[in-house]
Amino acid sequence: MRASLPVAWITHPTCRLHQIDEDHPESPLRLSAIEDRMIAVGQADFMTRYEAPEATREQLLRAHSEAHVDHVLSHRKIGDVRVVVDSDTAYNRYTADAALRAAGAGVLGVDLVMEGKAGMAFCAVRPPGHHAERDKAMGFCFFNNVAVAAAHALTYGLRHIAVIDFDLHYGNGTADIFRNNAQVLLLSTYQHPLYPYWTGAPEAMNLVDVPLKPFTGSEGFRAAVINEWLPVLERTGPEMYLISAGFDAHAADPMGDLRLTHEDYRWLGTLIHELAASSAQNRVVATLEGGYDLTALSRGVEEFLTPFLGGEMMPL
Ligand SMILES: [Zn+2]
Repeated sequence: MRASLPVAWITHPTCRLHQIDEDHPESPLRLSAIEDRMIAVGQADFMTRYEAPEATREQLLRAHSEAHVDHVLSHRKIGDVRVVVDSDTAYNRYTADAALRAAGAGVLGVDLVMEGKAGMAFCAVRPPGHHAERDKAMGFCFFNNVAVAAAHALTYGLRHIAVIDFDLHYGNGTADIFRNNAQVLLLSTYQHPLYPYWTGAPEAMNLVDVPLKPFTGSEGFRAAVINEWLPVLERTGPEMYLISAGFDAHAADPMGDLRLTHEDYRWLGTLIHELAASSAQNRVVATLEGGYDLTALSRGVEEFLTPFLGGEMMPL
């Protein structure tokens, strides 16, 4: 039965070598904190671990321009220098390799759930991806990991897939790549106004944008999801769920003020688990986006994954 399929944990050591700057919040410590918590609470024992492959050029070109792919890959051999893209984004010698693994993780996740080898896949990767546009790296992001995964999912002949983005920030890159693609529904909650200061795309009928004011909190967030996301999802019946799983909307995160709690991430996991069971044969692939308070981030991942691991954790 699909419900008993294992949860896949996909990562790669190279994802810990990319660093934007010494004190940058999008740091390798984020992955260490998540992995440490998975071990400490016992969730690691209940997941099947996979090493992320590098995304192929063909897979990347489904979401990005040739010029952008070539530009990112031109940084594979930069040596011991730092190449700055903008105030939030820079390459070190490992960045391009890490970006290839981060994008490849989502592709592997899609293959695992489509082939029935996993029910759900979580990609513990960095750099994150949802700000990367078809032709542009920005906002800590180089390749758009969730978009590469979604484009790969479409090669299986799925009619409708949903990308759910609950990061604090708007996933402008995913919107740029999929706007007006009738097969990809992109549902986003995000603090507004805040980076990247998205002003919307009213002509794009596949984008369900739900901007939230600072200090919205749990009650307002959940009401927005129920009122804005659920009717569209129930009408569409996506055959796979791709998740831009950012945890920077948590109250403890230094980046914003949406004021979500650990319980909200458990609630989101439960909701997505149920939605995927109803129309998508439980197929869910989540990829890490933001989350900069290490405790809130690692606890958020734990809470989000718990429903996929059968509810409360039981000792082996
Ligand atoms: Zn974010």
